[in-house]
Amino acid sequence: MQLKDALEILEEIVFYLELKEENVFKINAFNSAIRNLSRFDVSLKEAFDKEIIQNTKGVGKTIQSILKEILEKNESSLLNELKSEFPPEIYSLTKIRGLGAKKIKKLYEELNISSIEELEQACIENKLVKIPGFGEKTQSSILENINKLKTTKGKLLLHHADFIYDELEAELKKIYKNKFSPTGSLRLRSRIIPKIEILFENNSIQKKIIEKYSLKPIDENIYAGIFNDAEIYFIFTGEKQFYYELLRTTGPESFLNKINFNSLKINEFKSEDEIFDKLNLPFIPPQARENENLELRFYDFPSLNDLKGLIHIHSNYSDGSNSIKEILEYAEKKNYEYVLLCDHSKSAFYANGLDENRVKEQWREIDEINSKSKKVKILKGIECDILPDGSLDFEDSFLEKFDCVIASVHSKFKMTEDEMTKRISKALKNKYVKILGHPTGRLLLSRDGYPLNLNEIINVAANEGKSIELNCNPHRLDLDWEFHQKAISKGIKITISPDAHSFEDMEFVRYGIDMAIKGGLEKKDIVNCFSLDEFLKIFCQKQ
Ligand SMILES: [Zn+2]
Ligand SMILES: [Zn+2]
Repeated sequence: MQLKDALEILEEIVFYLELKEENVFKINAFNSAIRNLSRFDVSLKEAFDKEIIQNTKGVGKTIQSILKEILEKNESSLLNELKSEFPPEIYSLTKIRGLGAKKIKKLYEELNISSIEELEQACIENKLVKIPGFGEKTQSSILENINKLKTTKGKLLLHHADFIYDELEAELKKIYKNKFSPTGSLRLRSRIIPKIEILFENNSIQKKIIEKYSLKPIDENIYAGIFNDAEIYFIFTGEKQFYYELLRTTGPESFLNKINFNSLKINEFKSEDEIFDKLNLPFIPPQARENENLELRFYDFPSLNDLKGLIHIHSNYSDGSNSIKEILEYAEKKNYEYVLLCDHSKSAFYANGLDENRVKEQWREIDEINSKSKKVKILKGIECDILPDGSLDFEDSFLEKFDCVIASVHSKFKMTEDEMTKRISKALKNKYVKILGHPTGRLLLSRDGYPLNLNEIINVAANEGKSIELNCNPHRLDLDWEFHQKAISKGIKITISPDAHSFEDMEFVRYGIDMAIKGGLEKKDIVNCFSLDEFLKIFCQKQ
């Protein structure tokens, strides 16, 4: 073992001592020993043999004996003892930049957070803003740092890849005047992006770009490098072959085979449309090319403008950042007809969930705002917790008064598949529940959904005439697109909802559109493509 590895063990000890709020002098002693020893690049054994440890300032007897134990047993009994007092993964939180023992202690005490997955979930649910010393800014920078941690593992969530691409595009546009386009998984709008691929129309500046981004050749005309910690892949092609290569590199292979791409005799086209024409096919948008179950036909796919309702929005009554009035103004600006407010219900105490009285207070405000609003109507909704036994957080007599109820699981994820399936099925059978929120609870790249028989849930939803949400938060994208065909084949309509806690989140609907196209949903399959009247009358059975 190297000395620096042993020092890492000491650092871990310091972390736990800080969590326990041990004596400051003791903690400082560890810190100065670590600091003073860190400049020696030797093995732990050498450090003892050459008496480095014995003679370095600040390395007292206690620390020496800990290092000795590490040398002999490869572990520290002190560390093991400290660890046993806390959940096993809590130290992993230190990997997130900006999080030290003090903050981690708060997160643990206030929200019982002890792993990166739990922290990510809490950020997405906007739970951190209520903890003293955190706030919205800290929360979003923590979430961003979690994303970065994932990037270094080589994979990006779609919105994160977009963000990096946008920066790269802005830089490229300054130096490159010819055509270029994202291609590969980014153009397919996959949920997870392994690398950012860009196709360039070849020209004389190729060399300059390669130098600017220190790219290494991978194959003929393909170069790879790193930009903002993400892997980038630049592909250069001829001007006339651009669209042919765009279609080819967008892929995926299964789609190219399906459209008989290799049968093309020429590779010079003026657009992708022209290639589809040549193949006697309608244009298939890139998003849909990943789905092997779709037919090669025209689909009446939705676009952002087709969304008439902004559904599943949290206001500052629970854990959202915006007032109802601000949400209304946003909806007006974006030309929505209606907004379904869905704050948390009372069991979600961490999210400042609403009890009956506060709901009524909110209704009064909604009525007042609606009386003055001409363009947009605010609807009274709730994201009602599905309790562990499958019952709902409010009595039926109260649920009845909402315009629309979304029901979601937010607690007690550890159940057997059978129990969880029964729990959610029971909630779906409640007459007043209209939409199932984020059905599996998964978080992409970090947490699998709770065990659930999703096929069974789809059957129940179909029988009960309920909608299933396509939660557009790019960490969720749940109901996954691979289940969309199954759902609509049973007559289920899907609700595209951003589950927004801020204006920024409301923009997530674009990922919902991407996933809807990927899943093969058409406008008629989507709840928010209903007009206000249709939504209330047909879907909510309200006059
Ligand atoms: Zn939720
Ligand atoms: Zn929500």
